[in-house]
Amino acid sequence: MTEISGKSVFGGIAIGPVSIYQKSDNVVKREKTDDPEAELTRFETARETAKQQLQKLYDKALTEVGEANAMVFEVHQMMLDDLDYIESVQNIVRTQLVNAEFAVATTGDNFSEMFASMDDEYMQGRAADVKDISNRVVNVLQGGEGPGFHATEPSILLADDLAPSETVQLDKSLVLSFVTRHGSTNSHTSILARTMNIPALIGVDYSDDFAGKMAIVDGFEGKIIIEPDADTLAKYKGLQEKEEEKKRLLLELKGKENVTIDGTKINVYANIGGVSDVADVLKNDAGGIGLFRSEFLYLESSDYPTEEEQFKAYKTVAENMAGKKVIIRTLDIGADKQVDYFNMEHEDNPALGYRAIRICLDRIDIFKTQLRALYRASYYGTISIMFPMIISVDEVRKIKEIVEEVKASLTAQGVPYGEVELGIMVETPAAVFMSRELADEVDFFSIGTNDLTQYTLAIDRQNPKLDNINDPHHPAVLRAIEMTIKNGHEGGAWVGICGELGADTSLTETFLRMGVDELSVSPSRVLSVRDAIRKCDLSK
Ligand code: PEP
Ligand code: MG
Repeated sequence: MTEISGKSVFGGIAIGPVSIYQKSDNVVKREKTDDPEAELTRFETARETAKQQLQKLYDKALTEVGEANAMVFEVHQMMLDDLDYIESVQNIVRTQLVNAEFAVATTGDNFSEMFASMDDEYMQGRAADVKDISNRVVNVLQGGEGPGFHATEPSILLADDLAPSETVQLDKSLVLSFVTRHGSTNSHTSILARTMNIPALIGVDYSDDFAGKMAIVDGFEGKIIIEPDADTLAKYKGLQEKEEEKKRLLLELKGKENVTIDGTKINVYANIGGVSDVADVLKNDAGGIGLFRSEFLYLESSDYPTEEEQFKAYKTVAENMAGKKVIIRTLDIGADKQVDYFNMEHEDNPALGYRAIRICLDRIDIFKTQLRALYRASYYGTISIMFPMIISVDEVRKIKEIVEEVKASLTAQGVPYGEVELGIMVETPAAVFMSRELADEVDFFSIGTNDLTQYTLAIDRQNPKLDNINDPHHPAVLRAIEMTIKNGHEGGAWVGICGELGADTSLTETFLRMGVDELSVSPSRVLSVRDAIRKCDLSK
């Protein structure tokens, strides 16, 4: 088993035999000529033929891979009309009295080197293009039909670097993955891989004797494994099946409502820890963000994040979600999430200690900074705010007073903000028992089953010794959830679940029967939960 790392340009798993792309052997000899003008006429004819070939490739690509990918062949035709390129060929033929093939190949090399040495990544990517058009013209001059590739079974394609015209001529149904020695993230091979939805790696220094051997491409970790052992192969087959299932679900569910067989609708949102997770939310087609754990902004920072830093992060998430709901939870540190610069004193029972909203209501300066950032960002999307670790109505009233002060100061300063729903996390037994009263105070509840289980069962969620008795299906936890939903609805609040239990598809029907309005789960679980919802029939 051999493992080689590269740079992934598209994720996914491919398993299959290796097939190495052999470039056509354009061995170009330098030959003297005493009739340079005849050589230039040959060049002109070959250039025209190459342009016609490119037009055909453009038409083929247009129907197969769309206009964006076909464009390259239009660009190639333009490159063949480039005066600098043509003059360079003419100059070499006339001054060195050499054959057209040699002049074209030399011009191709020179231009390619020039592009490759430029700082601009886009121009570097064009180095392969100019080489490609030159090879094509040389091929025509030599009477060839252009490079070809004929795999006989679906294969992992290894190549030095694939030129666009080479990729378009491939039989796509036989390509499981692209792995190249050279190339860039923006190269056409990478773009094509993304379009074809297959894994691709660049910068892989492979050996020619890999040809025909069994291999695995791991586009997530950026590596290729040649001749994997049985355990590795089994592991990757499992991963591949999960990926296939995801792709299938995505195709089936994309853009569809989450509705049960009997017509009950529910929102499925995703949980995130920061701006970089939004890509996963969109990729998995979540309807919104049900929990943005804002404390990660504090955990990643070496000092208190400023209002401006927070504003930028919240605004980016809101804008990227393009009007879909984004529920941001205010700072929830303490207990298992410690931040050095808060200089918190040692506590015997941190999970029952100075944490989350308790810190915010004590250090109002920190709380107000975050609220200002949140309200400012609310102008750029649909932001809701929720507060963690609530135990009483008094806390919520105090929070609402502070929120009003923040809004008033923004208004006085002429700073715009949007409509913001306010909610609380229900994650303490106290909040469950007070849920009827609390519902009168807020727009929504989000049940944090991770802490709710910990506090209801008196089981430290961090203690691995207690894993065997830590049962989130415990009837006490389920009753607490049911009670919260019922009381929430009676008080006019909508109710969601954002703890890990929300992703447990063995409970999806139970939650729906309880009347839950939203489930927020980690992005990778969104599709399976949406699938489970569509299989429920609450009329039975
Ligand atoms: C929870 O407690 O269920 C929750 C969602 O919050 P966290 O896991 O961040 O405490
Ligand atoms: Mg919690």
